[in-house]
Amino acid sequence: TAKQRGKAGFVRYVEGMGEPVLAHMQLGGELRRALDDGELRVVYQPIMRLADHRMIGVEALVRWHHPARGVISPAEFIPAAERTGLIVPLGRFVLRETCRQAAAWLAEFGPDALPEAGLNVSARQLHDPDFVSDVTAALADSGLPCERLVLEVTESAVLRGQQVSRTLYELDRMGIRLALDDFGTGESSLSLLRAFPAAIVKLDKSFVDGIEIDDGQPAAADARQAVARAVMQLARALGLDTVAEGVESAEQAAVLLELGYTLGQGYHLARPMTADGVSQLLARQQSVAAGPFTHGSAAG
Ligand code: C2E
Ligand code: MG
Ligand code: MG
Ligand code: MG
Repeated sequence: TAKQRGKAGFVRYVEGMGEPVLAHMQLGGELRRALDDGELRVVYQPIMRLADHRMIGVEALVRWHHPARGVISPAEFIPAAERTGLIVPLGRFVLRETCRQAAAWLAEFGPDALPEAGLNVSARQLHDPDFVSDVTAALADSGLPCERLVLEVTESAVLRGQQVSRTLYELDRMGIRLALDDFGTGESSLSLLRAFPAAIVKLDKSFVDGIEIDDGQPAAADARQAVARAVMQLARALGLDTVAEGVESAEQAAVLLELGYTLGQGYHLARPMTADGVSQLLARQQSVAAGPFTHGSAAG
């Protein structure tokens, strides 16, 4: 069993082979045990208004607290979880945990404090015939109203056929908001937006990187902003909300605001944090009077 292989064996194997594929096979086995042993935890990254850093939502992000390797990033184990099918129980865990936590925040801080909670859903989950009933059960068991749940899907996940499309329309009919994650990195972003009941587009970090650089060449600067500008125009035309991902500086936030973005997510605004961290932020936000909340980060 995974347990008998032991920690040392795991580390030696990965370091010795240096082969991502083999490492993933091993990870898959370990992951099943991790799920059973409660080593997976959910952290939450605030989504904030760019203008005043008020938190309007969170995105749930899974972490693996491995007994030997410490905290492992989802970029390392989600691919293995997708290949082995473990993403289905793993995703169900994140779904239930996020709904439970969001309902607790709603009860403690009231309806205006944190309008929405999002989580990532992979293609494999969208293909699972039980997915819609899992979501329905998670909402019912937690008491979280459906309009407070955001499900983030990537373009590549959505592109996979009839069953996925039916599932997405069903979730939309239930009043759950769907977000297109990493928007602009896929191959058919534009046509997808018409064919899919998205409520939110999340501008990928790659289009935020370097957006603030001013090298004195207007044409070049404009090229850096071109995708973000086009996505904003499209979102407006289609009546979609937007979130800019990977906002790492005040300068980037200022450019995004100029382009019409009002919401962002990124290290400049807040890092992923524990549920307790979010509670503290909510408490602080509530104690600050209704007036604007300045962080000294707004551009002049
Ligand atoms: P994502 O959904 O696009 O999530 C955003 C990722 O960008 C997170 O990485 C977050 O920590 C990181 N990030 C946020 N702001 C910044 C920034 O300013 N700079 C930089 N460099 N990074 C930033 P994380 O937590 O490592 O997650 C990576 C990806 O793994 C996620 O990308 C998502 O696709 C996937 N993922 C995470 N949790 C889950 C899950 O529960 N289920 C599924 N299916 N996928 C998940
Ligand atoms: Mg996401
Ligand atoms: Mg994203
Ligand atoms: Mg991304």
